[in-house]
Amino acid sequence: MSFKTHGSGRPQRSASSFRRGGRPSGGRSGGRNKGPAKQYIHPSKFINKAAVREDEVAYVPKNVFDDFPFGAELRANIRAKGYKNPSPIQDQAIPEIIAGKDVIGLANTGTGKTAAFLLPIIERMSGIMLRPSVLIVAPTRELAQQIDEEFRVFSRGLGLYSALIVGGVNVDRQLRDLKRRPHFIIGTPGRLKDLIDKRHLQMKNMSTLVLDEADRMLDMGFLPDIRAIVKEMPKERQSLFFSATITPDIEALVHDFLRDPVTISVRTTETSDHVEQSIIEARDKTHKLELLTDMLHQDDYSKVLVFGETKFGVQRLSDHLSNSGHPSVAIHGNKNQSQRQKALRQFKDEHVKVMVATDVAARGLDIPNVTHVINFDTPQTYSDYVHRIGRTGRGGARGRAHTFIDTQR
Ligand code: AMP
Repeated sequence: MSFKTHGSGRPQRSASSFRRGGRPSGGRSGGRNKGPAKQYIHPSKFINKAAVREDEVAYVPKNVFDDFPFGAELRANIRAKGYKNPSPIQDQAIPEIIAGKDVIGLANTGTGKTAAFLLPIIERMSGIMLRPSVLIVAPTRELAQQIDEEFRVFSRGLGLYSALIVGGVNVDRQLRDLKRRPHFIIGTPGRLKDLIDKRHLQMKNMSTLVLDEADRMLDMGFLPDIRAIVKEMPKERQSLFFSATITPDIEALVHDFLRDPVTISVRTTETSDHVEQSIIEARDKTHKLELLTDMLHQDDYSKVLVFGETKFGVQRLSDHLSNSGHPSVAIHGNKNQSQRQKALRQFKDEHVKVMVATDVAARGLDIPNVTHVINFDTPQTYSDYVHRIGRTGRGGARGRAHTFIDTQR
């Protein structure tokens, strides 16, 4: 194992404005998320070999899209979206979902899981009168929005409608959307439960439930809301459950919510193959800032996702980078939905080259072509680490992930 150090040459910019601009350094008052204490993760886990799994075998798809019993419009929409062959999770899950089975999909973002559940449900929904009949629950507003965007693309011309029911935005528009009797409800647990409690959202005709990123929803403390929501649904239904990991909590949920499920597992750390990982030793925060700004001067750092620990720290870091000539946006829980959406759009469209994020805000986001992931603060858990570095090296591209570690340790 070799400890690699980047940018150890003389720093080109002073980092002092970062410290002066904010609160006294060292204060963790800036909204450190509640939850368990931070795990110590040995630095050897932040380099290549540690994250490669032994059981990786190239998957050979059994189906092409034309093998699935989809109507002409849906086929055309899949073609228009540019999908040629089903991804492994799609290849395996679509036939089971069409057959009406409950499914546990062990898959994370980047595997094509969204289309794996949307396509067969959309196909089945054409001509169904009872509404709303599909409920899709996701951990974050951004993920719910992404699912809704994919839904709109795939359902074009099919006369199917959705309502996006997420927190952080004004409820009036959502209430209007619900009155239009959409077929699909796509949302986050808190707002969904709120509207169910207030009787704005009817659950009695729901025949399909999708829980996306169930493990993340549990991490974020949504379990009571999810249980309350599912309790309102008819027992006769199809349930589809997606999670990157299976823990005892997840098993308990599966047991309570699903009937005789089929489990489909795809390689969840596929990305680590394509991600070159390294650790960078730094003495303190100022040193980390110097190293980071040095890196950002290099041309190949063109779309860089930086992870920080606290909402407050993430915002300060982003402001500091912008002020040092590296256009940057921040996403974290202190921003409202439209601010987050705007920041994400600017980064996706490459109007800024850096996005600084907390783990929670970045969960499930699909951002193409991220060149580098920088762990400015080490992650809370190893699973957060795997999740973070999975933002780069997608679709066969090479990605790079650097993790700053403290030399004092
Ligand atoms: P997901 O895991 O659902 O977030 O999807 C990850 C990315 O892969 C998204 O940008 C999808 O549009 C894309 N994708 C999903 N399925 C396919 C497919 N069969 N062919 C090509 N791209 C796909």
